[in-house]
Amino acid sequence: MNPTGPSATADLSAAELDAADPLAGFRDEFELPDGTYLIGNSLGALPRGARRSLQAELDRWATLGGEAHFDGPLGWKDYHGLLTGPLADLTGTHEDEVVAMNSLTTNLHLLLVSFYRPTPQRHKVLIEDHAFPSDHFAVESQVRLRGYDPATSLVTVAPRDGEETLRTEDLLAAIAEHGGELALVLLPGVQYYTGQVLPMAEITAAGHAVGAAVGFDLAHAVGNVELSLHDWHVDFAVGCSYKYLNGGPGGVGLAYVHRDHVADPGLPKLHGWWGTDPTTRFDLETRFDAIPTVESWQLSNAPILPMATLRASLEIFQRAGGIGPLRHKTELQVAYLDRRLDEVLGGRVENLAPKALAERGCQFALRVAGGDGRRVFEDLQAARVWCDWRHPDAIRAAPVPLYNSFADLDRLVEVLDGSIR
Ligand SMILES: *Cc1c(COP(=O)(O)O)cnc(C)c1O
Repeated sequence: MNPTGPSATADLSAAELDAADPLAGFRDEFELPDGTYLIGNSLGALPRGARRSLQAELDRWATLGGEAHFDGPLGWKDYHGLLTGPLADLTGTHEDEVVAMNSLTTNLHLLLVSFYRPTPQRHKVLIEDHAFPSDHFAVESQVRLRGYDPATSLVTVAPRDGEETLRTEDLLAAIAEHGGELALVLLPGVQYYTGQVLPMAEITAAGHAVGAAVGFDLAHAVGNVELSLHDWHVDFAVGCSYKYLNGGPGGVGLAYVHRDHVADPGLPKLHGWWGTDPTTRFDLETRFDAIPTVESWQLSNAPILPMATLRASLEIFQRAGGIGPLRHKTELQVAYLDRRLDEVLGGRVENLAPKALAERGCQFALRVAGGDGRRVFEDLQAARVWCDWRHPDAIRAAPVPLYNSFADLDRLVEVLDGSIR
């Protein structure tokens, strides 16, 4: 048996699918909480290797102290570079375009400084209505900081009445409508509530066609869906590492800037010592000599301990063959869970995610008919089926291909079936 596409799962059981899953062994590389862990969309599971990787840095701290900064190719002053190759693979970028640094929201502010350059004619930012609050706050505060008013400079696009997800045609129409006044389009790669994957290439082309810069928040996209940021000509993007990348709580963020911009001296930028030429950095002169890559956006010496845990996790992604095989399994898991929800629960829950596979990552957003969602969520908690509750009425559940089995999905369906009357 060799299921090759979603339709091939049509009548296979979870046991058959798990037996045929080439990635099944990776589950053992993680320490999973007791029960059924389906919230890798919120906090990815602990890779076993993270303990060793972290311990290695604690040991170097103990034995070398500050000298560990200069301890060969693994030296802490260059440590962030160890993450760059694997992150470039996962984001579809070149190594001069992506770096692990700071946190998502910090990186968003840093890149808004560079890519949101409002003028009286062109000052608007297009975001989604009810964007993730941190993104909304960041944009709103940047608009004010530049002397503009969010009431007139923020353009928001919402799903149509009675619909849950954004229509591409509505996004493109809004971009065209505000065209000459639009400085920036900032959207999620994958929407955090519904799991909708936005057509990043198409949105980027539309933004560029009206002269706007285009950036994406990849919090729910990186490690979940295939990305080709460079080829799509996305100007900039930010992400976090503690969701699908399993980097650990509060883990280091990601920043991407397209090669067309990384060495542009005309871009406004906030500077710190980690952005200046590493060969002269430790001379401690006060002349800023920008690294000709995205690393010039770095501010501070890197947080080695969360980078050590992330490094262990990225190593698993590489051994799994990168995002391609993971995405393949996601398509099988999504098709399987769709089928089981339909067969067992038909009509008692609705998935808010789009129907089309191309518009979905691994996350489900389940709404219980009759507004009983919160109680059902509590039943799931009591049964140790770990999902998360998102106001106002979604139970998010994300089968993560590195560590969730098809049997996990049966368990979810079983508890839902027992709980929803
Ligand atoms: C998780 C998430 C964040 C989190 O931001 P941090 O700066 O890492 O706390 C931001 N935006 C979106 C869309 C998210 O899903």
